Amino acid sequence: MKISNCSICGLSWSEPIDKEELRYSYDICSCCGCEYGYDDNPTYRESWLKQGAPWFASKYRPPNWNLEEQLRHIIPDWNA
Ligand SMILES: [Zn+2]
Repeated sequence: MKISNCSICGLSWSEPIDKEELRYSYDICSCCGCEYGYDDNPTYRESWLKQGAPWFASKYRPPNWNLEEQLRHIIPDWNA
């Protein structure tokens, strides 16, 4: 299955990636900063939100970024 958004913060990517491939990629999300395969879990999302949802790579943050809108694309059962 291919997904087009970060499972933790909902950030949309330019290209879809295979779910399993992502899980073992150890890539770091430029928005929420989670490392897939390591801290891509609901607890990480919660603490990220508690910190005020800071961008890991702030240079990629769009000027009109909308957190609420982005969070609609998260995958709640990612680790299920
Ligand atoms: Zn993310």
